[in-house]
Amino acid sequence: MITEGRLGARAVIVGAGISGLAAAAALASFFETVELLDKDELPRTPRPRKGVPQDLQVHILLKGGELAFESLIPGTRAALLTAGATEVRQTEDASIWERDGWHATRDLGHSQLMMSRPAFERVLRRQVLRLGNVVISDRTPVERLPSGGDLTVIATGRGDRLLAGVEAPETVLGIEVSYSSARFAKPERFRGEERFIACIPQPPDDRYGLVCPIENDEWLITLCSRFGERVPDDLDGFRAHAETLPMPDIAERLREAVPLTPVRGYRIAEARWRHFDRGADLPARVLPIGDCISSFNPTFGQGMSVAAGHAVALRDVLASCGGDLDGVAAAYLPRAAEVSRQAWSLAAMVDLEYPRTKGERPPNFGKIVTGTEAMRRAAALHPEVQLLRFEIGNLVKPDSSARNGPAARLVAREMARAGGRPRER
Ligand SMILES: Cc1cc2nc3c(=O)[nH]c(=O)nc-3n(C[C@H](O)[C@H](O)[C@H](O)COP(=O)(O)OP(=O)(O)OC[C@H]3O[C@@H](n4cnc5c(N)ncnc54)[C@H](O)[C@@H]3O)c2cc1C
Repeated sequence: MITEGRLGARAVIVGAGISGLAAAAALASFFETVELLDKDELPRTPRPRKGVPQDLQVHILLKGGELAFESLIPGTRAALLTAGATEVRQTEDASIWERDGWHATRDLGHSQLMMSRPAFERVLRRQVLRLGNVVISDRTPVERLPSGGDLTVIATGRGDRLLAGVEAPETVLGIEVSYSSARFAKPERFRGEERFIACIPQPPDDRYGLVCPIENDEWLITLCSRFGERVPDDLDGFRAHAETLPMPDIAERLREAVPLTPVRGYRIAEARWRHFDRGADLPARVLPIGDCISSFNPTFGQGMSVAAGHAVALRDVLASCGGDLDGVAAAYLPRAAEVSRQAWSLAAMVDLEYPRTKGERPPNFGKIVTGTEAMRRAAALHPEVQLLRFEIGNLVKPDSSARNGPAARLVAREMARAGGRPRER
């Protein structure tokens, strides 16, 4: 472990999910002991647990998240691969249907690691425990903000209650997304296939689907819908729903896939972003992280990567705070908000294209949609735009990098070709 210089004796983190673990990695070199408290019994094997009911659903780790975890605990990528993560080369191993066509197959020089959420969390837990000064106390529910630590991080997730009483402005979108997922063994002819398949529909179509190649040569298959539509949770209905997708590849695999679990559903009514950086009355030395700050429409696969980005921001602030723990919140919260902002704006602009999504559309919304569409079309034509689009969507590069440079000029040309006018809505 790299010792950055001690700032205090004990830091406490409530919640040992992804953001709690990322926070532990960020704090470990600044405190003698970092104590993680979780209400759940944390399993030794990679199996689902009650405290994270979403863990049966697909959890994609974006490239930016992988890089952030690697920077927090070097060796994490190798540990994920050793634990059986599938490496999906972008885009040779991916079949992505978006709106009205397939993404081009090109070598973007990136890959993504795919595994189930319980397996991912288990690898991270081991990585964090290897740091030597992190203690995890499970079966320890925390009912009120703890006192006594030099710093307290709240990582209790989307359903957090510890910070519920803190007044903070918030942005909320009524998205009403329904997930249904199950794990499958591959039939003989697909064994060893490490192909990631995605169907991303054109709003207002809501038929979204994913086939993720995960550990043990299994598939985790997810079908999503929005608003009143529900994907059936019986296997026949699940398969029948896949047959209605605008591309055949998911239905084709699902027809022969051998179920290992029942189909399980999860409904997300809202995406929520709490702006703690805008004058919220947080108690001294208490910091929120991860879903406690921003919880998104999960179909964009951002939550774990944003949590890792928050943790990197926290580590960097601690490294430069000069021992002033009372000043950490003021420096950390705006940096964490910037990490959330990029993810939020990527997801929200698509969510708001659905006329039934409740939330405020920006005045230039039509123009934003036109620009986004121009970038998608330019990505099909030009490798450099496809790479930039991947890197922005995967939180590797800031969205501001779309404004300048050769790729930006190709997008502008595509926009001009399409008439440059906002689409009729
Ligand atoms: C359906 C669905 C699909 C998703 N898919 C993706 C995806 O593809 N990619 C992605 O990156 N993200 C995805 N996410 C988001 C992802 O689950 C979260 O963003 C990520 O887990 C980070 O959350 P967190 O650590 O803040 O909270 P969580 O992972 O929810 O962890 C919170 C932890 O706090 C503990 N806890 C809660 N309250 C208390 C308390 N009072 N005392 C003690 N312990 C407590 C819980 O037991 C739990 O361990 C998805 C979410 C959903 C709902």
